[in-house]
Amino acid sequence: MTVKVLEFKRPGDPHSSGEAICAHCKHEWVAVAPAGQRNLECPACSSHRGVFKWPYGPSEGDEGYQCNCGSEGFFIMRRGKQANGAVYCRGCGTEATGWFQ
Ligand SMILES: [Zn+2]
Ligand SMILES: [Zn+2]
Repeated sequence: MTVKVLEFKRPGDPHSSGEAICAHCKHEWVAVAPAGQRNLECPACSSHRGVFKWPYGPSEGDEGYQCNCGSEGFFIMRRGKQANGAVYCRGCGTEATGWFQ
């Protein structure tokens, strides 16, 4: 029996790219890294203290939102004849309220 080894890294893997800055030497560059990766390697000083200047997700200390069902994904949409859009949980479909209190 032969086992086919699949390459883990696919072309469709989510990547983040953007301006990064090194906390060690303040060097700035445009970095590309797998989505979610922290601690980018700085091309100037080779330390791993580079971070994206504009992170896409919550950083440490930020408050994220989570539905009672445990899902962290939400749709913003307008249903039927509603005047305003509302936010719905992707996990259970419940309207999510109380965002900005
Ligand atoms: Zn550096
Ligand atoms: Zn939910």
